[in-house]
Order: sequence, then structure tokens, then C-alpha cells
Amino acid sequence: MSRFLSKSFQSMKPYTPGEQPQNMQYIKLNTNESPYAPSPKVLGTANIASLENLRLYSDPEVKDLTNTIAAYYKVESNQILVGNGSDEILAFAFQAFHDENTAICFPEITYGFYKVFSNLYQIANKQISLTKDFKIDVEDYLNCGKNVILANPNAPTGICLPLSDIETILKTNSNHLVMIDEAYIDFGGESCISLLKKYDNLLVIQTFSKSRSLAGARIGFAISSKEIIEDLNKIKFSFNPYNVNRLSMALGKAAMEDDEYFKKCTDAIIKTREKTTKNLETLGFEVLPSKANFIFVRHSKIKGSEYFKALKQKGILVRHWDDALISDFVRITIGTEAQMECLYQVTKEIIGL
Ligand code: PMP
Repeated sequence: MSRFLSKSFQSMKPYTPGEQPQNMQYIKLNTNESPYAPSPKVLGTANIASLENLRLYSDPEVKDLTNTIAAYYKVESNQILVGNGSDEILAFAFQAFHDENTAICFPEITYGFYKVFSNLYQIANKQISLTKDFKIDVEDYLNCGKNVILANPNAPTGICLPLSDIETILKTNSNHLVMIDEAYIDFGGESCISLLKKYDNLLVIQTFSKSRSLAGARIGFAISSKEIIEDLNKIKFSFNPYNVNRLSMALGKAAMEDDEYFKKCTDAIIKTREKTTKNLETLGFEVLPSKANFIFVRHSKIKGSEYFKALKQKGILVRHWDDALISDFVRITIGTEAQMECLYQVTKEIIGL
């Protein structure tokens, strides 16, 4: 730390991203990326002409991609804001909608960035325990008197709330913003985008990083009322007007237009998730019921940290947290069938079966 860092940030704990090894020495199941390449149509988009245009700034309104997303979800273009990953959208939302009078609540076990952004923007926050079986109890989120943010499915548990629960939360918090982070919604959950017609306090956040195989392109988006999007744009244009680069805009558009490929990939991941779950259960693992592209698992015979280390030694990278509430578990991203078969065989050896 230099002697110049503002006091307000001296004790701040930043987000710790999962390891990103720069060679392919591991089967990489640690950061919930897609095991499948982007759509062939995406690959065809990155041509020389698109590179030549890099001398020009990108469209600050991200019109083309915004219109494509709006058409896909059957909303107006002014209901969408595209960001540099959904992390950026989350940052804008934390900044825009909180102050000394407006706090936020979220589950104690959830996406780590909610806590990090609360600290970064000095937002009062209440962290609510999950139930004993690692679920979000909707009762805890009724009439909170604060804004609410939920990842649905939740991370790292993978457990998904039904639409009816999201609606109850929206109804009982009508004077507060309810933000639903749907980073993993395309793997079997039901999106709450349809509720936007009924509730003006809903902000939905999605990403191209998981189901559309574009984690490296950094594209996320918000869908909400045009007024809330206008507010988010106020932050964006006060921070980084050219937040989405030219290449990513073109790649994102091509990805969203190839619905067939998107469905093929998400279906394959769901199928592999179900098979992996069954396989691990036969080895005595507890696998939380996941609607995401990852599973959260524990075994009574091996500590989470030991299973993590043993897998790493055998060339498989997964994610483990030291947090006492979840330190028994590891989170395993769903890879290809072959990668998951390898995980299964290696796990058998580790467990001694
Ligand atoms: N929300 C959740 C719940 C996530 O797990 C992630 C991925 N780390 C993100 C948002 C951010 O994704 P991205 O910035 O790649 O869109």
C-alpha cells in the first residue's frame, strides 16, 4: 500500500477472481465458463474489416447490440443497457441506487461482488443467512426496507427460486429496487424478465459470459424500465461512455442471433450436469440441486480443501472457499462430457473407491 491511498480504501478487501492459468495444463472447471467455443457465427464476425475500424471509438449507445437484445427479449431498446461484463452493470447499479438513506440486503452466501461493491461504494448492507439446506428463504426478503439483490440461481449453491417467489419479493418491496442477477438463468431456471411489465421496481441483470460462451468478450446487460435504464446511463456516461468495445459488440450480436447454437450448448450443459450429479451421488457426495452451469458438492469423508487440492494435483481445477459456512464444499463448473467423465474417474480414485 502506498502512503497515498485514500483512508476509505485502506482496509477494503477486493474481489478474488478464480485462478486463470495462462496455459492449458488443467481441465478448467473453476470459473463457470462455457466448455464450448462461441457460435461459429461469432467466430466468422472477427474479420480484418472489423479490426481496421478499431481506430474509431465504439458506439457509446451500443445501438446494434442493444437492439438485438431488445428484440430477443421482446422489450424496447430503451429498456436495455449493455455493460463491460455484468460486473460493470452491477457496479453502476450499486452506485446509482444507494445512499445514506438506501441500504441493500443480500444473502450471506452469494456472489462475492455484492459485498465488495457495498464496501467500495460505502453502502450499508444486511447479509441474510441461508437456510440449513443452503436455500434463500423468501420470508426473509419481504418488506425489507432496503434494496434487494439476489443471484438467481444463487452462486455458488446453484439453487434457483421460482418466478412466484421473485414476484412475492417484488410485491412486498414496491418502494425499493429488487435486482435479480440472472447470470446463470439459461441453465434451467425461469427468467423474471416477464415480470417487468407488472413491476417498475425490477432490474434484471444478465451476461454473455456463461450461456453464450463469451466470458472473454466482457458483455453483460441490464433489462428494466426505461427510467431505471436512464439512471444507469447517467452513471455510465459519467464514468466510461465507450464501455463496450467494437469487437465485443459485433461478437455479442452474432452470438445472440444464433439461438440454435445457444440452445444446443445450454442443453448439453444441463444434460452433463444431471449425469455428473448422479455419478457423484453414487460416490456418496451431497450435490445441491443446481439450475446453473456448476454444482456445489461435499463429501463426509473428505474436507473441501483436501478434495480441491487432490483434484488440482491430478490436473483438475475447481473452486473452494475458506469461509467456514461453505468450506466443506467445492464448486465444480460443468465442462464437456469427456471432462466430467475424467472428473468422475479421478474423484473415484481420491475417495478410494
Ligand atoms: N453475477 C454472478 C452471480 C456471477 O457468478 C458472475 C461471474 N463471476 C457475474 C455476475 C459476472 O459475470 P460477468 O462480469 O462475466 O458478466
